[in-house]
Amino acid sequence: MDVDVPTRKLLQTRPAFGGNVMADIICPNTRPQMATVRPNVMPRLKPDPGRKCSAVKVDLKLDARKTRTKVLETIKSARTGAKGVEESDVVVSGGRGVGDDGFAMLDELAKLLNAAVGCSRPMVEKGCMPKAAQVGQSGKTISPTLYIAAGISGCIQHEVGIRSSKVIVAINTDPSAPIFNLADFGIVGDAKAIIPLLVKALREKA
Ligand SMILES: Cc1cc2nc3c(=O)[nH]c(=O)nc-3n(C[C@H](O)[C@H](O)[C@H](O)COP(=O)(O)OP(=O)(O)OC[C@H]3O[C@@H](n4cnc5c(N)ncnc54)[C@H](O)[C@@H]3O)c2cc1C
Repeated sequence: MDVDVPTRKLLQTRPAFGGNVMADIICPNTRPQMATVRPNVMPRLKPDPGRKCSAVKVDLKLDARKTRTKVLETIKSARTGAKGVEESDVVVSGGRGVGDDGFAMLDELAKLLNAAVGCSRPMVEKGCMPKAAQVGQSGKTISPTLYIAAGISGCIQHEVGIRSSKVIVAINTDPSAPIFNLADFGIVGDAKAIIPLLVKALREKA
């Protein structure tokens, strides 16, 4: 997001054409202009108690009868852990490569790391994981300290959701998988063999 200072126009950058290009959206005619930013897209600033601002009270009259959306209840999924993928400092994610039955081992690893369990979009479409756990362009944008991607190829739509993670560990059988271009640490191998080894090593250390 940026502002074209001479024309005072807001430039809203967002993925287009399935995430293959980043497009600047400009609204030249209508005012006011506003934009929202997804949580975790940029790191939070440290609090600065010296900063000053003024609060503007707006006298807003909303007609409840015209609002068609109502939040009836918020339910946290048990699967994604006590904290959701957005709030958790460690996220362990599985993709097509871990298979339908691979999330049991990821749950075990997540418990030992006090992590949330995330996934790629196909695993939501297959019904293996809830939508709330999906990481990426049409899912959640996250910025954990540690992100473990098991059996995830690293398509652009997944990548945009994990770019601001501090450390990315990828486990993939294919050494040329795009996720390795993004990862800080890469393990080439079968996630179904490697995850249980990680679980064993962490249990022994505990
Ligand atoms: C508009 C749009 C929005 C999208 N939004 C999202 C989104 O929000 N999030 C998202 O994730 N996707 C999204 N997608 C889908 C995205 O394009 C990819 O299809 C998806 O990310 C691929 O998921 P995957 O990596 O699990 O599967 P695949 O691309 O099939 O990759 C599976 C990987 O597992 C590896 N593998 C196989 N067996 C093993 C094994 N035993 N051990 C280890 N590795 C193994 C393979 O080498 C491969 O790299 C979107 C697509 C579109 C068009």
